[in-house]
Amino acid sequence: MSDVNSERPQFDDFELLTEVSQLLTILDLDGILNRVVDLVIRLVGARRASLFLFDEGELDKKHLILTNPQQDAPLVSQVLKEGLAAWVVHYRQPTIVDDVLTDARWLPEQQVDQPARSAMSIPFVYENTVVALLTVVHEEPKHFTKYHLRMITALANQAIGAIRQAQSFHKLQNQQRQLEGVLHTIPDAILVLDDKGAILMANSAALPLLGNTAPEFFRNRLLIELTELDSALHPVQEIMREIGDSPLRPGTQWSFETRSENLKKDLQVSIAIWEDITQSMGGYVITMHDITQLRDLHRFKDEMLRVASHDLRSPLSLIIGYTDMISLDLGDPDSPIQGYLEVIRRSTERMNGLLDDLLRVERIRTSPLELHERVDPQKLIRVVLVNMRPFANEKKQRFESSIQLDGLEGIMADPVLIRQAMENLIGNAIKYTPEYGRILVRSYVEGGYFYFSVEDNGMGIPKDAIPHIFDSFYRVRSRKMVGIKGTGLGLSLVKTVIERHNGEIWVESEEQHGSTFTFRIPI
Ligand code: ADP
Repeated sequence: MSDVNSERPQFDDFELLTEVSQLLTILDLDGILNRVVDLVIRLVGARRASLFLFDEGELDKKHLILTNPQQDAPLVSQVLKEGLAAWVVHYRQPTIVDDVLTDARWLPEQQVDQPARSAMSIPFVYENTVVALLTVVHEEPKHFTKYHLRMITALANQAIGAIRQAQSFHKLQNQQRQLEGVLHTIPDAILVLDDKGAILMANSAALPLLGNTAPEFFRNRLLIELTELDSALHPVQEIMREIGDSPLRPGTQWSFETRSENLKKDLQVSIAIWEDITQSMGGYVITMHDITQLRDLHRFKDEMLRVASHDLRSPLSLIIGYTDMISLDLGDPDSPIQGYLEVIRRSTERMNGLLDDLLRVERIRTSPLELHERVDPQKLIRVVLVNMRPFANEKKQRFESSIQLDGLEGIMADPVLIRQAMENLIGNAIKYTPEYGRILVRSYVEGGYFYFSVEDNGMGIPKDAIPHIFDSFYRVRSRKMVGIKGTGLGLSLVKTVIERHNGEIWVESEEQHGSTFTFRIPI
């Protein structure tokens, strides 16, 4: 017993307990590791110590404690590969080396004033994995005892908890920094609000919209109190006002466009609800995407349309007028020049037709719809069929219809536009179906919707073209299309009309076999 006691270091047990328990209050990893090393050196009277930390089996080079400044990184990796450290990590066993000169596991240190003669190495094991490795040395042989080993092992058990806690904290902090980094590099402005509309976070792109004020200025303040900072926030303010104190309704979204006069930018805004059920927290995420270029394009397009409608019309009418005059002046109806004039007239009329289409699409897109009229679809379809039948007859096509609308009193629609849409679909079916083909027009009511479909057994549409078929100016490019006239505006016009009636349109088609275009609008 007395033997053991004489091995005891001059260290108060109570002091040790206090020091160890304090480890758990430190969140800074380097702080903990330095404290552990310091404590161990004092406890066992070691000359030098090293503490390696491992993260998922790899040496954590950022948190390496070496009390001997001459010890360098290459030696660290060497001892971990083939030295004492490698042995301890592998067997997960603490060990004492009484004399390093007789132990093959010891790799001699370079340029050390007092070379080690004895050493002790202890693994910090958590769930069967070595989390850290502590090695202490002394210049005398047989310096370290079993008692030292037991004490340091006990200390290691305490330290593991603190190390793990600090590591998790670090990881969390890193993840948070990473997330913040990502948020700040996103070019869209992002504002995160709580359920009352107070700003929790704004990314870098959002700062100019908040007048480049400091986070301390806007954080936790209601966004509606800050909307004077930028005109882009005015519509947001209106929505936030409207929402008021009503509880969050997950899934709700608002989307609209706004303009920042300060930044001279047009922005597409979307407001969505975020929710953290576990913490019963929630609020709003506002994202603003710069659409200035798109808006500029729109403005350019509007300008082009204005030019087209006014400035191109008059020269075209002049061309037609003069063509007629030349034709009359020529007198001779059999002159080949009459043929040339006819080509000029036809081409000019096509240009006029194209202008008509363009302007019509634009008018429908931008003008208010006359939807307060109750239209009788049966009557409407009858007119459409009468109008279109002669074109089918011309191509000797079978033109059939199945109209089952009995009991339907009417639909709220703009009769002129809906008639044009129907005629357009039937016109396409006739155009893209060869002679002797078959066209079937169907209309019925189902689930509160009015359906209208046109089926043909014509050339059909290639699979890769289907997603684009309703785009403006899109036409399928194929050899079969050669000689079939069109502008690619018809279907885009039909789609616009149907969508403005809150309806939908789609197509099912197979190349060589035919197509079915269907639209439905709510009754
Ligand atoms: P246009 O007929 O003036 O070319 P549309 O917008 O009406 O323009 O149609 C776009 C394209 O869709 C057409 O060029 C054609 O390739 C294809 N398409 C439309 N309707 C049919 C149909 N019934 N069958 C096969 N292809 C069709």
